Amino acid sequence: LEAIRTLADIPAAQARVRGNATAVKYGTRETSFAQLDARSNRVAHALIAAGAAPGDRVSALTKNHDSWYPLFFGTARARACLAPINCRLAPAEIGFILGDAAPKLLFVGEHFFDCALAAVAGLAAPPRLIALYGEHPAFEPFDAWLGAASDAPLADPPQLADDVLQLYTSGTTGLPKGVVLTNANYRTFLEAATEVDGFAYGEDETVMIVMPLFHVAGTNVSFSGLAQGGRLVLVKDFTAVDAVRMMREEHVAHAFLAPAMIQMMLLQPDANVGAYPRLKSIAYGASPIAEDVLRRARATFGCDFVQFYGMTESAGGGSYLSPAAHDLPGKLTSCGKPWPGAAMAILDGEGKELGEGEIGEIAIRGGIVMKEYWNRAAATEETLAGGWLHTGDVGYRDADGFYYVHDRIKDMIVSGGENVYPAEVESAIMGCPGVADVAVIGVPDDKWGEGVKALIVPTTGATLDPADVVAWVRERIAAYKVPKSIEFIDALPRNPSGKVLRRELRAPYWEGRDRAVG
Ligand code: ATP
Ligand code: MG
Repeated sequence: LEAIRTLADIPAAQARVRGNATAVKYGTRETSFAQLDARSNRVAHALIAAGAAPGDRVSALTKNHDSWYPLFFGTARARACLAPINCRLAPAEIGFILGDAAPKLLFVGEHFFDCALAAVAGLAAPPRLIALYGEHPAFEPFDAWLGAASDAPLADPPQLADDVLQLYTSGTTGLPKGVVLTNANYRTFLEAATEVDGFAYGEDETVMIVMPLFHVAGTNVSFSGLAQGGRLVLVKDFTAVDAVRMMREEHVAHAFLAPAMIQMMLLQPDANVGAYPRLKSIAYGASPIAEDVLRRARATFGCDFVQFYGMTESAGGGSYLSPAAHDLPGKLTSCGKPWPGAAMAILDGEGKELGEGEIGEIAIRGGIVMKEYWNRAAATEETLAGGWLHTGDVGYRDADGFYYVHDRIKDMIVSGGENVYPAEVESAIMGCPGVADVAVIGVPDDKWGEGVKALIVPTTGATLDPADVVAWVRERIAAYKVPKSIEFIDALPRNPSGKVLRRELRAPYWEGRDRAVG
């Protein structure tokens, strides 16, 4: 890691010592570190020739594909800043992000050409359009664009202060915000990652990438994998069947999975106990996990589990619950302790630090905290007030220094003056036989202000009686948290990082009314 000062250095540092080793496997195609290094240089030279100056934004709109990697490192080497776009968004939302990032070039993957054309239609200064893979008459083919660009190293080395990635938040609570991350942020991240179980890998160990590469979890697991000489197996689209199969066939040693993915994998008939001899660790995070799901996952996969709590604004870092801590009494529901170089605190509404057991907003400090939200000075000031990153999550710290996330402030339900955290209610319901998935929301209630409502997806073939669910939950959590109404639905709306879009579920109930929270 000494040879890696900025993200741009990753492929070269590995290419020098083990150039022929596989860096990325995608389908049947394998790219070595030497090839990745050379291709990243060519992308950098081509970007500079196309007029991308230091600090300029460049965007990509595509599913997971191995061409992401030369794009990440090539953009960093050109000292430009890559602003990836969530390809699952609608053209209007993509148009919003393109207007916000104002990229000079837009690299588009197959299947998104029409979407990209619709999205750039209203822009005053549309980007130059390049087909990353696949063909379309309105897009320059990637190889033609690369042309005869040299694969020689770049003369102008990236600086720690350079903006290197502009990752958009998942848009769970509203419009996605552009989080500006610098090389310095990533240097702090990479240094810490090698000391943290779940991010510390051995050379040649296989790391499965299923999180989208436009999300901080996808990029970070990739970067820490490559920086440590790991072999990435990249999955285009997550399906539980493929993920389970790939874990076995590719001898996966490490994976980062969203709780929703784990939940789906456990429902696979062939997700047998003991079938993963090479698996060492599963890292999970990005949203809360139900205790029952975690227990079953540990029994099924038989490897170490590491929880990460963090967000785009903290370059994905924050706190982690180590494998050993999973076995400490009462700590399974914790998101752990701050990771190396980061500090955490619980703040009250005025930004004052609270003591153990007191409930407030979780805050993070350290070299991983973003530089700013792009084009949003007021939001930046508010979020970074007092030198802390205000996470928007509610939680507390226990006497041993472990942190617990209750939920997002915006999703908290205030019922009869009591605060109810949907994640806790969901966790209780998830253990109930016949429940495949669940979301809990607050709906208007004339008597209580807000009422707790559960939307449940039953497991295939199960018939659930709401009264049984209520009886199950009543034995596990306080009466005021028990859902007053239950509805069954086919599937929950989730974004690509596996987060339930509770605001979408809430919307029909709140039409024409204002919620007190959020
Ligand atoms: P937006 O900010 O646009 O609403 P988002 O907050 O979902 O979207 P991300 O930065 O991808 O965007 O997600 C960070 C959030 O995910 C955290 O603030 C927290 O609410 C949730 N989260 C992350 N890790 C965990 C975890 N281990 N347990 C519970 N929640 C988590
Ligand atoms: Mg957020």
